Amino acid sequence: MTVGLQDYDESMKADVKRSDLKPGEVLCQYCTGRCCRYFALPIERPETWDDYDHIRWYMMHGQVSVFVEDTTWYVMVHADCQHLQEDHMCGAYETRPGICRSYTTDDCEYDNDAPYDQLFETAEQMWEYAHAVLPPRPRRQPGDPVSLPVLSG
Ligand code: SF4
Ligand code: SF4
Repeated sequence: MTVGLQDYDESMKADVKRSDLKPGEVLCQYCTGRCCRYFALPIERPETWDDYDHIRWYMMHGQVSVFVEDTTWYVMVHADCQHLQEDHMCGAYETRPGICRSYTTDDCEYDNDAPYDQLFETAEQMWEYAHAVLPPRPRRQPGDPVSLPVLSG
């Protein structure tokens, strides 16, 4: 969520804490639009080597992280929304999607760099985690089927 242009004042950008907000002010006025710079989709919790291998493949494409929140796994694609303006305001405020309208500052990432229970930022981290939690990887035989992951609905 960001505030509309009509609410923006460049001079107000500062290192402001939530507790510093004055009546009528909105936290987004002081933010660089952090929540507008990615999207995330829930994925099935990985349970097998193939599952982790697929997630590792997602992450090899770059600009992709995986996080866990309340036991749900998400793939996060880092990409600025096309409507995010240079002043960090929303350029489509009146017609922004419902997910933007319903997002609140209550528990947002404005001042929290680690809002997740777990965060994996590289394919190598994911693979290392797989080695830590899974039993030894079985040797793949030629012709073994590979199942594709399914996004949860
Ligand atoms: S991260 Fe929080 S403060 Fe920043 S734009 Fe999003 S909702 Fe507003
Ligand atoms: S439309 Fe884009 S810039 Fe506007 S609030 Fe939603 S994610 Fe942010």
